[in-house]
Amino acid sequence: MSYSVHVLQAGYSRLEEGVMRANCTCTLVKGPATLIVDTLTAWDKEVVMAGLAREGVACDDVKYAIGTHGHSDHLGNLNLFTAATHIVGFTVCHKDQFFLHPFETGEPYKIDECVQVIPTPGHTTADVSVVVKTAQQGTVVIAGDLFEREEDILDPSLWRHTAGSENPEAQEKHRCEVVLLGDHIVPGHGPMFRVTEAMKEMARKGKLGPP
Ligand SMILES: [Zn+2]
Repeated sequence: MSYSVHVLQAGYSRLEEGVMRANCTCTLVKGPATLIVDTLTAWDKEVVMAGLAREGVACDDVKYAIGTHGHSDHLGNLNLFTAATHIVGFTVCHKDQFFLHPFETGEPYKIDECVQVIPTPGHTTADVSVVVKTAQQGTVVIAGDLFEREEDILDPSLWRHTAGSENPEAQEKHRCEVVLLGDHIVPGHGPMFRVTEAMKEMARKGKLGPP
């Protein structure tokens, strides 16, 4: 059983003349189960379709379509994936069926031995991250806006204030847990980055940030 993680489009966020320009990082997970995580804005259907085509994946191959949290720039194209189970934040559904899962208690949602969805609230009160064990990339955590981008490790104002955090204490705790768990992190609005030993050292002390 072997998985791999492919960023279809790296996200961004920047202030331009008083307007926040932002789109999320859209990620495909290929393996025994196919997953797509964070599907860009509603205006990006062609971007999603082109990304899937590059990877040789059809919409109906996708078994899980996941929005890491309930913000519109992460949910725009869920309706391309009608064969999939949808997970948005702490909610799991297919058509009009909602499957209760106790994310609130910290319980992971296991897809198989290599893939699980874990609760990582903070940015909103119901964020999730997708943890994938891969052969080539080690453990990859697709973390949504738990991390804005790699630079927010040394500049916490990026996640605390620019992106905004509904529960900064919870977010800080889950950021440290994810750094200790992962070899690579896919953030909400930037390219995938490698977790360094320096990051893990900070996380062991319970705080990521400038020395
Ligand atoms: Zn976002």
